[in-house]
Amino acid sequence: MAKKGKILIVDDEKINCSVLISLLGDYSTIIALNGEQAIQRALSDQPPDLILLDVIMPDLDGYEVCRLLKNNDKTKHIPIIFITVKATEAEEAKGLNLGAVDYISNPFSPAIVLARVSNHMELKRQRDLLEHLHITDALTGIANRRRFDISLEHEWNRTTRMKACISLIMIDIDFFKQFNDIYGHAAGDDCLQKVAQALDKVCVREIDLLARYGGGGFVAGLPSTDLEGAMVVAQAMKDCIVALEIPHEGNSISDCISISLGVSSNSKQSIKAPQVLLKQADDALYKAKSNGRNQFSD
Ligand code: GH3
Ligand code: MG
Repeated sequence: MAKKGKILIVDDEKINCSVLISLLGDYSTIIALNGEQAIQRALSDQPPDLILLDVIMPDLDGYEVCRLLKNNDKTKHIPIIFITVKATEAEEAKGLNLGAVDYISNPFSPAIVLARVSNHMELKRQRDLLEHLHITDALTGIANRRRFDISLEHEWNRTTRMKACISLIMIDIDFFKQFNDIYGHAAGDDCLQKVAQALDKVCVREIDLLARYGGGGFVAGLPSTDLEGAMVVAQAMKDCIVALEIPHEGNSISDCISISLGVSSNSKQSIKAPQVLLKQADDALYKAKSNGRNQFSD
């Protein structure tokens, strides 16, 4: 049976970890035997959904670990439950005030630990779903503009620090308004989904991000890609949409759906801010439209 979620158990006593691992058999569990390890595990690419945290540990104690995790954007959303022999009201208040979602005194009731873990895992699942919906385009399932803007800022900072380049491609379906007028809005939606899927297949690198950026428009962010590389991607995108062969009688330059693309890049001239790159990609898209559509321009 698939495990219900991932829990990080933090305790310097191995025996305590073993007891919790067998109690939480329905979940996937990982352990950390000190505070530093706990932070490393929480910062990993596959972070836990929940942390069970002991208070009394040598070096970094549980409170300090909690403080550090709650002060880090990458880990502050991971719910923490303290499990500790420090069971006074003042200690419990301290743990909760540091941002823990719950505080369980040890020795504990296994049934209550299971129930509390289950409740907090469900809340985490709902929060993750909400977060996913917040940054996803409902129609196509790819990233929305909100996610793209956040990611562009982040990638721009990262690539600039590394003195690497970053390129953008602005993409727009040609005569899409006519497509809706001729075939209906439902067919238009279907077309947008197919175009999004096809473009997504071209953005194969994990760091590439394709997003819906408006009605019939998309944008691709290509970190560590220079202008030449971005042109290759733009050509592949243009070709993959032609290959879909979606009939479009209202397209005056082809019988089928086509796209126009505008490319901008940091690689050639001096460093440009994200908003400047977006504006340049948009201007390039306008040029591709003016030059006859079904083509890309920089
Ligand atoms: P151009 O070749 O100059 O791009 O012409 P166009 O008709 O494609 O113009 P534009 O890009 O401005 O068209 C956007 C159209 O996309 C307007 C609207 O009919 C359609 N559209 C926007 N959002 C949606 C959507 O969610 N579903 C559907 N079916 N159509 C949409
Ligand atoms: Mg269009």
